[in-house]
Amino acid sequence: AKAKGRNTFHFYSQELNAAANERLFIENELRNGIRERQFEVYYQPQVDSRNQQVVGYEALIRWFHPKEGMIPPTKFIPIAEATGLIVELGAWVLQEACEFAARLASKNLKNNISINLSARQFKDANLVSTLDKIIKQTGVEPKRLHLELTESMLMGHVEAAILQLHQLKALGVSISIDDFGTGYSSLSYLKRFPVDILKVDRSFVKDIPEETNDMEITAAIIAMAQKLKLNVVAEGVETIEQVEFLQNNNCYIVQGYYYSKPVSEAQLPALFERLSHI
Ligand code: C2E
Ligand code: CA
Ligand code: CA
Ligand code: CA
Repeated sequence: AKAKGRNTFHFYSQELNAAANERLFIENELRNGIRERQFEVYYQPQVDSRNQQVVGYEALIRWFHPKEGMIPPTKFIPIAEATGLIVELGAWVLQEACEFAARLASKNLKNNISINLSARQFKDANLVSTLDKIIKQTGVEPKRLHLELTESMLMGHVEAAILQLHQLKALGVSISIDDFGTGYSSLSYLKRFPVDILKVDRSFVKDIPEETNDMEITAAIIAMAQKLKLNVVAEGVETIEQVEFLQNNNCYIVQGYYYSKPVSEAQLPALFERLSHI
């Protein structure tokens, strides 16, 4: 038993070591990657399931590392957050997404663009002026922009968060609560935040129609959003059954692999071609 314990510990510490090394590697490569512009913003359509029209896109960052290939955001966003590099990277995403929105507008396409904000970015005192500058410089209509934040980002310093939200909203942008239902927000707080959209988290959608509990939670979130006069977007929708369940519960704007994975701007014509056959 002793030997086994030692082995387990050895194995464990090797694993921890590997994790620490990977972290360090990503941290170093991040700085370099930002300098060398190894990032690209992909866009995942948000579709009105009643008519297959793309009403908006969520901007999702991608890192194409010259040696490692694609490094998913779940691997590097937390590290960018911890090191503060997210402020610079996040500002770059805002700029790219607004330029994309402006290009769409120049083709008379009135799509919304959802952009993820990290906790650090949201707390940053310069966020409002940075965004204001980008809006003016790109000429994007602020009402096209939907900023996505999570419940946990709002719950820490509630008064400060409410103030920041009001300042962002004064620019004319909308606010979305991402991953709704997975955090700790109480419903009474939710009413105090000036938010416009709830995004039903994928964890509630993914096992519809097998999990009746998830179906009830999803239906309840949609009903509550409607009572609070919030728009609702369902995330992670992969099947026609899920689309139909959501329709039957009055949620029509959906995002997920059923319609499309996130794609580069260059892949959008192919996306529209596919959608026209659904
Ligand atoms: P998120 O904001 O919840 O984004 C949705 C994630 O779900 C995306 O993963 C998307 O590709 C994935 N997804 C969409 N539809 C489906 C589906 O039908 N099935 C499945 N299995 N997955 C689906 P992605 O792009 O890997 O991003 C992961 C997370 O990284 C995002 O979660 C967000 O928290 C963060 N992230 C991505 N881009 C940015 C960014 O520019 N800034 C910040 N701060 N965070 C970002
Ligand atoms: Ca999001
Ligand atoms: Ca989400
Ligand atoms: Ca998520």
